[in-house]
Amino acid sequence: MRRLVVGDEAGLLRPLGFQTAAFTCSHPELAARLGDEVLLTDVVGGQVGLFALDLGGREQRPEPDRGRVSVFVIRRGGSRLPDDPRRAVVDELGRHGAWAAAVADHVPDAPYLDVVAQSVVPRWVHGRVLLAGDAAHAVSLLAGQGASLAIAGAAALVDRIAGHEDLDAALEEHERTWRAVVEPVQRSGRRAAGTFVPRHRRDLWLRRTVLRAARLPVVSRRLLSGLTGAATH
Ligand SMILES: Cc1cc2nc3c(=O)[nH]c(=O)nc-3n(C[C@H](O)[C@H](O)[C@H](O)COP(=O)(O)OP(=O)(O)OC[C@H]3O[C@@H](n4cnc5c(N)ncnc54)[C@H](O)[C@@H]3O)c2cc1C
Repeated sequence: MRRLVVGDEAGLLRPLGFQTAAFTCSHPELAARLGDEVLLTDVVGGQVGLFALDLGGREQRPEPDRGRVSVFVIRRGGSRLPDDPRRAVVDELGRHGAWAAAVADHVPDAPYLDVVAQSVVPRWVHGRVLLAGDAAHAVSLLAGQGASLAIAGAAALVDRIAGHEDLDAALEEHERTWRAVVEPVQRSGRRAAGTFVPRHRRDLWLRRTVLRAARLPVVSRRLLSGLTGAATH
């Protein structure tokens, strides 16, 4: 869709050096062991996250979700995806201990696997078309705010248009003001990449130290704003 507006998309993606996969699978035993916990592994060069879809109210969940586990995988890698994505995901899961290995047999034949990247689009407004959400300013899952920024950006756009007689001026103003919100989040997303997925053993040590420090209330507030940038809502 964006290509229709901007033409050549080359150069609009800033890969962050990682690829991500996500899938769900039926694994009642693992779901029961996870309970309400989200498990994040602590390994150099990748990360696996596991949580039961029963999270927060098992009995209220529809039957198909009971005993299902959601899995996300982050592996090192550039903008070229592997020829055999299933093998790549299985191999990564195998590096992350017993809990991650337990879902390796459940990786779908053609799993979702994509490059972790940010959108860097010089102009969002093209005539009467405005690029919004990930198309304009994907921050990457490492920043953890992409969905909020897409929704809050749409709400801000509606307010901007409602308060303006001139649509062109409203679109320009929205781009200017919303860029000021998303660009700091993109910067912190790039900074967070090393913390989220430690590149070396010393990064692993640093992350563990930071997480321990984050239990202290004052440090935790500072850390949060340092990692995520300004609040978006
Ligand atoms: C694995 C993963 C984990 C993530 N985790 C988080 C998280 O924890 N927190 C968070 O805030 N964000 C997270 N994100 C990011 C978040 O999902 C996105 O930032 C958000 O979905 C962006 O919303 P959007 O509406 O801009 O784009 P999308 O949600 O991508 O919606 C675009 C829609 O347009 C449709 N479309 C595309 N082309 C066409 C066409 N030509 N015609 C019709 N329809 C079309 C697509 O099918 C899609 O449904 C994650 C992303 C990934 C990949």
